[in-house]
Amino acid sequence: MSIGLYVHVPFCVRKCSYCDFVSVPREDGPVLRYLRALHGEMEMRAADLSPEDRTVDTIYIGGGTPTCLSGEDLAGILEGIFSRFNVAGGAEITVEANPGTVDGDKLASLKRAGANRLSLGLQACHPGLLNTLGRIHSYPEAEASFREARRAGFGNINVDLIFGIPGQTPEQWRQCLEAAVSLGPDHISAYGLQLEEGTPLYTMVRDGTLDPCPEDLEAEMYLYLMDTLAGHGYVHYEVSNFALPGRFCRHNLRYWQNRAYLGLGPAAHSCLGGRRSANEPSLGGYLEKLEAGLAPSCREEDTGPETEMSETVFLGLRLIEGLDVEGFRERFGKSIDDVYPGRIDRLAGLGLIERAGSRLRLTRRGLMLGNAVFAEFI
Ligand code: SF4
Repeated sequence: MSIGLYVHVPFCVRKCSYCDFVSVPREDGPVLRYLRALHGEMEMRAADLSPEDRTVDTIYIGGGTPTCLSGEDLAGILEGIFSRFNVAGGAEITVEANPGTVDGDKLASLKRAGANRLSLGLQACHPGLLNTLGRIHSYPEAEASFREARRAGFGNINVDLIFGIPGQTPEQWRQCLEAAVSLGPDHISAYGLQLEEGTPLYTMVRDGTLDPCPEDLEAEMYLYLMDTLAGHGYVHYEVSNFALPGRFCRHNLRYWQNRAYLGLGPAAHSCLGGRRSANEPSLGGYLEKLEAGLAPSCREEDTGPETEMSETVFLGLRLIEGLDVEGFRERFGKSIDDVYPGRIDRLAGLGLIERAGSRLRLTRRGLMLGNAVFAEFI
């Protein structure tokens, strides 16, 4: 069985106003200690795996902002993976990058080290909106980074976009999508902004200094997104993800199909052999454990069939093609209707899900209310 490998890089130039990911400003960050600890964790985890589980067919270096690190450090992470795991030929190897932290040399060294997919954080195209989000880059810088990545040989590039930003108008969203599509990315991830408690943006909205995007406007932007990208040949394959044919993100598909993955770095999660584990959520806690020669996990549990069934359903429903109902029966020896009696028919009666052959999927209305549907299976 092959696995997916995720590496969390917990550094950014500075914190964005909406961000609750585990990251610290690079300037004050213990980069060398982190790299030493990460290589130690790789060694430890690889030694624990059977030779089959050590076969990796997708790698995703995310964060944080991985490209806050130097090209040599990033290449060193990939070398560490190649030397300790069996990286399958044709493996998808993604690195997240943010405009303002990449140049031609860094991108070329990533490419030489084996990366073959880049995920670029564009987020928005208007200066005022980038400012609201607290991003460090301007749109022209993002555009230049995209073109630089193509020149460096990245033939598979994702761009991340955000809609539902306070103050964002439908016309700005239309222009942003047009600008993003005109770059010709292979993949587009577009998320409605989540206001996470404890972030500066959340506080500003709570205190009334910033008006949140009205829900109906956000829904309108999502509908516009689906229709526009379909018109440009992008396949909508997951609630928030769109790709040109053949360019689905294989690593993320692994999560939605509830298949095995190993996470390295602070706050990284793993799901292997029916067990879930989570690493220490803070960089400090992660470093302390590894420096003491201990595994950095802080939580481990057997998933158990109920959790596994629930995850398989709500993750599978995130896919536009939906959940394979027959596959569910084969995997768990029970039909989904037996496990969740009455629930499917009720959600279908509300027009939120529908059966299509052997699949169960969200309707267009269900896509708008996805979280309410997923909650029914948790
Ligand atoms: S670049 Fe990403 S991870 Fe870093 S602070 Fe901004 S949103 Fe968070």
